Amino acid sequence: MKRILVTGGAGFIGSHLCERLLNEGNEVICLDNYFTGNKQNIIHLLNNPYFELIRHDVTHPYFIEVDEIYNLACPASPVHYQHNPIKTIKTSVMGAINMLGLAKRINAKILQASTSEVYGDPNIHPQDENYWGNVNPIGIRSCYDEGKRCAESLFFNYNAQNNVDIKVIRIFNTYGPRMNPNDGRVVSNFIVQALKGEDITIFGDGMQTRSFQYVDDLVEGMIRMMNSRNDFLGPVNIGNPNEFTMLELAQEVINLTNSKSKLSYMPLPADDPTQRQPNIDLAKKELNNWEPTVQLKEGLTKTIEYFDHILKMK
Ligand code: NAD
Ligand code: UDP
Repeated sequence: MKRILVTGGAGFIGSHLCERLLNEGNEVICLDNYFTGNKQNIIHLLNNPYFELIRHDVTHPYFIEVDEIYNLACPASPVHYQHNPIKTIKTSVMGAINMLGLAKRINAKILQASTSEVYGDPNIHPQDENYWGNVNPIGIRSCYDEGKRCAESLFFNYNAQNNVDIKVIRIFNTYGPRMNPNDGRVVSNFIVQALKGEDITIFGDGMQTRSFQYVDDLVEGMIRMMNSRNDFLGPVNIGNPNEFTMLELAQEVINLTNSKSKLSYMPLPADDPTQRQPNIDLAKKELNNWEPTVQLKEGLTKTIEYFDHILKMK
């Protein structure tokens, strides 16, 4: 049994990760300040004696003895990370410094949840890990993109200078149950709008693309990365290479919900990337043939069931 700290554990991805780690027989400490996360996401774990919940903000140091740290604390939706951009940078950068300092002191292995946003609006397609990205350092997404890029730099420097055992994954758009219905991200927005019969909000012409990964595939990739051979540090892309336009996503959601919702076109936010698709050759090679197993229709169906349930409870 390992003792594992998950920062951002009450969030969408963190809650699935905590659950999986507990199911595998580990002791899990979930740390969160509930900025975008929710106790409801982990309420079903609270009776488990091997689960502990801690309200804490990663911008402040935290001390605990654990074997592994998964560092997920950071708002992920553009609406939320742009709400208080300075805080977003502090969470990424000071959070990384505090968690790396902890890992160094207690000799723990630490995994960073980085993002495809480090590639910015990419001008190579698909994106592989050798690409350095195309990020506007002063744009509205920069608090998140540059915060995560700085965190990657900190991870690699703590490894080079202090021998900290690091792992870095770059997560591509991930969706599934327990996304916040008011989160503002495209999958949750479209599903909630379709279920309520409201207009589906397409930003821009809807021809921009994203590659959507179901959360269970990501969690599998995260755990394989944490357990990968010692000298494989990443960064490694974890995503589903199947790429869709936002119009195709809207149509699929309308079909699966039998919704009468119409499309409504809104202005495209600044610096919105036009395309995104992971090259996952490295993950396949290093993570024991890891690849996504849940495709969009199946994943959306499960996610729609979840939102349908929570909207009916309201
Ligand atoms: P989320 O917003 O649901 O979860 C983030 C969690 O971090 C929340 O529970 C929030 O309360 C917590 N948090 C935020 N600031 C904190 C702070 N200062 N101290 C402590 N806790 C704090 O988002 P998510 O989709 O679950 O994302 C989890 C991680 O994965 C994030 O680091 C995100 O950048 C990364 N990621 C997610 C995606 C995606 O598509 N979902 C893509 C790339 C990277
Ligand atoms: N988007 C959209 N309608 C919405 C929300 C988002 O068309 O209601 C678009 C957004 O402009 C972007 C894509 O969907 O091109 C993915 O947006 P999201 O916020 O989910 O993630 P990110 O841009 O960080 O990949």
